[in-house]
Amino acid sequence: MMSTPRRNFLAGAGALAAMAALSPWHAGHAQGTGKHTRLVLLGTGGGPRVIANGRSKPANLLVINGVPYVVDCGEGVAHQVERAGVPLNSLRYVFITHHHSDHDLDYGNLIYDGWASGLRTPVDTYGPPPTKAMTAAYWELNKFDIETRIADEGRPDLRKLVTVHEFDKPGLVMQNDDVKVSAARVRHPPITQAYAYRFDATDRSIVFSGDTTFSPELIELARGADVLVHEVMHLGGVETLLKRVSNAATLREHLLASHTVTEDVGKVAAAAGVKTLVLSHLVPSDDASLTDEVWTDAVRKHFSGQIIVGRDLLEI
Ligand SMILES: [Zn+2]
Ligand SMILES: [Zn+2]
Repeated sequence: MMSTPRRNFLAGAGALAAMAALSPWHAGHAQGTGKHTRLVLLGTGGGPRVIANGRSKPANLLVINGVPYVVDCGEGVAHQVERAGVPLNSLRYVFITHHHSDHDLDYGNLIYDGWASGLRTPVDTYGPPPTKAMTAAYWELNKFDIETRIADEGRPDLRKLVTVHEFDKPGLVMQNDDVKVSAARVRHPPITQAYAYRFDATDRSIVFSGDTTFSPELIELARGADVLVHEVMHLGGVETLLKRVSNAATLREHLLASHTVTEDVGKVAAAAGVKTLVLSHLVPSDDASLTDEVWTDAVRKHFSGQIIVGRDLLEI
């Protein structure tokens, strides 16, 4: 059991300093590399369907001055964070673009897994409705385990470490000394609360499209950014995919109305004037005929900057 003075110390203003002192990883990144923003693609396969040995579900990681920011929490995100070399007990900020399950299924689990790894410091989460209700429901779902471990193992109350910041309008989402995060509402019907995020750090600006069809609002948000991580759908590949998926009668209409085909991704990147375009949330994600060259060639018709076809754990 932790003593009371120790617990108060960790909960107070010294929490971040304590974390740096306790975590060699955190200290090394915060002090050793100075101002530096890392981007790691954690999961690059779009859609909820489980695919054996396939791409991991949508999730991204920024490490800004040693502090991790996770954007979307598709299934398996906690494993991917660890594989990216970031200890789960250093979890600090979580952002959800929208509440399709391929983006939030492991939202609660990521935070829980951080706690199971020794997390004792605050976590701030950001997302559109119903992020608050989902967080509360997650605590209810796991009430028995959480309360058992608090009593039995002397862990801090996870529920008190987490603060949910729910928003339903575009604009400034959060700002600290290292980064400013803003959001644009994008077009992803039938979901109306779907957002893209822009992270302006001191050294780089990085934009995540979330899920969207062609959206002028995203072009505005991404204007002049160093990196745009954009979802992408290959039309020919989708036609092949639809022949294999038997239980989704209106899937074709959903995909075409709410996602962005390769040509339009190139147009968005060109109109926004970004330096580097990263293709992620690939749909389909498991068609061997869609090589990196196929994806790149389809996008390059409209965008002459750097194009990177995303893969899991790629650092950019
Ligand atoms: Zn998605
Ligand atoms: Zn979606």
